[in-house]
Amino acid sequence: MLEFIPQVIFVILVIAAIAFFAKNVSRLKRNINLGKSIDKSDHKDIRFKKMLKIALGQSKMVVRPIAGILHIIVYVGFIIINIEVLEIIIDGVAGTHRIFGFLGPAYSFLIGSFEILAFLVLASVIIFWTRRNLMNIKRFLSKELKGWPKNDANYILYFEVVLMVLFLTMNATDYQLQLIGASHYANEAGVVGSFPVSQYLLPLFEGMSEATLIAIERTAWWLHIIGILIFLNYLYYSKHLHILLAFPNVYFSNLNELGKFKNLEAVTNEVKLMMDPNADPFAETEGGEDEVPEKFGASDVQDLNWFQLLSAYTCTECGRCTSECPANQTGKLLSPRKIMMDTRDRLEEVGKLIEGGKEITSDKQLLDNYITREELWACTTCNACVDACPVGIDPLSIIMDMRQYLVMEESAAPAELNNAMSNIENNSAPWPYNQQDRLNWAKEV
Ligand code: SF4
Ligand code: SF4
Repeated sequence: MLEFIPQVIFVILVIAAIAFFAKNVSRLKRNINLGKSIDKSDHKDIRFKKMLKIALGQSKMVVRPIAGILHIIVYVGFIIINIEVLEIIIDGVAGTHRIFGFLGPAYSFLIGSFEILAFLVLASVIIFWTRRNLMNIKRFLSKELKGWPKNDANYILYFEVVLMVLFLTMNATDYQLQLIGASHYANEAGVVGSFPVSQYLLPLFEGMSEATLIAIERTAWWLHIIGILIFLNYLYYSKHLHILLAFPNVYFSNLNELGKFKNLEAVTNEVKLMMDPNADPFAETEGGEDEVPEKFGASDVQDLNWFQLLSAYTCTECGRCTSECPANQTGKLLSPRKIMMDTRDRLEEVGKLIEGGKEITSDKQLLDNYITREELWACTTCNACVDACPVGIDPLSIIMDMRQYLVMEESAAPAELNNAMSNIENNSAPWPYNQQDRLNWAKEV
């Protein structure tokens, strides 16, 4: 009976980790669903192809080749090495040893590839850490990356190193145990698996007793699987949620040409009415009063749509948007990365208020408490940030919704803009001249 204790502990651990993960997924869904509805059910085939190209194929990552290729190695390595987790879970539950070993040469090829990838991941992670912490790369030095965001990025790198070292240690001791013919490890058909990297660790374990080797192998095995379960549950609290969310985010991302802004239907109808000399000013607008929104634009996260909120959770905090932003480059306060980080922080805050049964008041909101008006008005609407984002995020859409709120709900546009808007209204042009005077310049020619 006692021999089953490790299996029972293993099953309890896996169930607890999956339950906690499921709880965080439902929290995530609840927060994203706080956003307004938006229809993204069109062009399924185009969306799917875009997702394959950008999220799976990482096509936008390689625009910056060094970071891009390193990222692909870590990403592919992480995904593929975790295929072995399937075997670990089956071995853990059934008490078997390398259950897929019966695949023979195919199994050896897989384990050998995992080891090479693990080595490449280790090398990439060390380069990532050096770039992030020792080289003065501007996009890693912004003030929005101080504190938790910087620590979060480093924690994951340390995590990767620990997981890969455990993986290679587990394999090296397993290999040594197979070579010395330890029961439960040795196989009549010979060595199961191939160990192109961990074989170089064998000198570290030479001369150790079988019991010591088993203790090291089991410890590495347990810590490796526990580490993966912790990693899974850490995702919700980290920018690394993009490992999962990049796929739906790219799928639902904007398919329109960059620069095409959405029109408010209620306002469009109003303008059409003004332009039509035959219109009845007392006639009801198409769709009736329901069409007029309760609030124009966005001052808090609930005013944004669900896709914008999904994007806030997807943001990898890579700063590619900010490093392309002309406003940021010319020293303005605006950073599109910060817009996304602020939206996520505020959304988390609102989520916690809901969980605590507390009221969400306008005493604190996204506008002013997180994102300042100065940041919003610094945007040139150039779309460089949208173009640069490797996971299909549109920080500009949040900026525009918040500006819309300022203009339409608070009449709080900067004076220059207010003048231009009044001129458009009165003179059909942004300049302060009567339409009839437009050709005056020609009299001097
Ligand atoms: S659209 Fe605005 S935030 Fe985005 S890059 Fe251009 S100026 Fe910066
Ligand atoms: S919005 Fe996109 S480009 Fe900008 S930091 Fe987030 S993931 Fe990177």
